[in-house]
Amino acid sequence: METTLKTYTVGEVCDGFVYNELEGKGLYGLSGRLTIQPEYQRNYIYADGKKDVAVVQSALHRYPLGVFYFNKTDGDRFEVLDGQQRITSLGRFVTGKLSIIDGNGIPQYFSSLSPEQRQRILETPLLVYECEGTEDEIRKWFETVNIAGVPLNHQELLNAVYSGEFVTLAKQEFSNSQNANVQKWSAYITGAVNRQDYLERALQWVSRDDVKGYMSLHRHDTTIDELKRYFNTVIDWIASVFTDVESEMRGLEWGRLYETYHTQPYNAETVAKQVHDLYADPYVKNRKGIFEYVLGGCTDKRLLDIRIFDEATKRKVYQRQTAEAALHDVSNCPLCAMGHEANRKKMWKLAEMDADHVSAWSKGGATSIENCQMLCKTHNRAKGNR
Ligand SMILES: [Zn+2]
Repeated sequence: METTLKTYTVGEVCDGFVYNELEGKGLYGLSGRLTIQPEYQRNYIYADGKKDVAVVQSALHRYPLGVFYFNKTDGDRFEVLDGQQRITSLGRFVTGKLSIIDGNGIPQYFSSLSPEQRQRILETPLLVYECEGTEDEIRKWFETVNIAGVPLNHQELLNAVYSGEFVTLAKQEFSNSQNANVQKWSAYITGAVNRQDYLERALQWVSRDDVKGYMSLHRHDTTIDELKRYFNTVIDWIASVFTDVESEMRGLEWGRLYETYHTQPYNAETVAKQVHDLYADPYVKNRKGIFEYVLGGCTDKRLLDIRIFDEATKRKVYQRQTAEAALHDVSNCPLCAMGHEANRKKMWKLAEMDADHVSAWSKGGATSIENCQMLCKTHNRAKGNR
């Protein structure tokens, strides 16, 4: 990555300054070559009559204004990475949108300053690091520079690195809390719309978790049709399979679940009953696992983290089984005892056995001592896999 230290004057940077009063955004500078507030930046927050005024006073008194960072986008165009608040304050002042209070308590606009004072402000030097590099280099640099005191999160960073038409459109759809669909989406997605969590999810889904690659590939696209279509397809699929919305559905890996299961048919009524029963089952410890368990045809019990037999129960059952087996001179594993192999009379130690539901949990068997039997590890594993 190449970094060039340059000195601009306030006059140069504020040339062609445009301020959007409605959105509270400083838009352009450097005769239109500088984007002051790129999409990924936060809004202008210095407009409090203190911080913004302090910036102008600093220029008037020749106090240092600190270092600025510009990111070279293409050709001779730049975006402000760090310094947008300061530049916007200066721009608002020189375009007459901000006044300062002079020593006599009188508000002064730029136009009411003496020619020397105006000159002094316009000639104030600004130290700017211009940075140019590959997307990867810029990303690493962004990660290191602490932007305006509030670090960008992962997706904000990617938005900065891959800024352009695609990101702008994607943000209008997925980072916009005014979007009426957000309410519906929030049933399945966690996080905050304005911190890019929804956009990140949409990108993860459509890219099968290669967000960076996808953003790089589509950086200069002028539509987000594929992104929208895929996202809505996943959302509609969830809503059609699971008609009841449960709070544990939020934040599941729906993209992966859709990819894995969407070609299978489901009966929404049956699914609703299965989910309902599992919610009512006191042995299900992991409710978040219910949805994938049902999608997978109710076979992978590990997803549910079923409550297991406690040590006291296992020990009691082991002792009873072992005493009984000794009387009949057979193995204390009932399945070994029924076989014809070498283990038919084998007495297993407690540590060599596992607890098993006699009547399977999945068929309503309880996790109680009456429904507990100890099996050798091999037989328990074999039974569990059925
Ligand atoms: Zn056995």
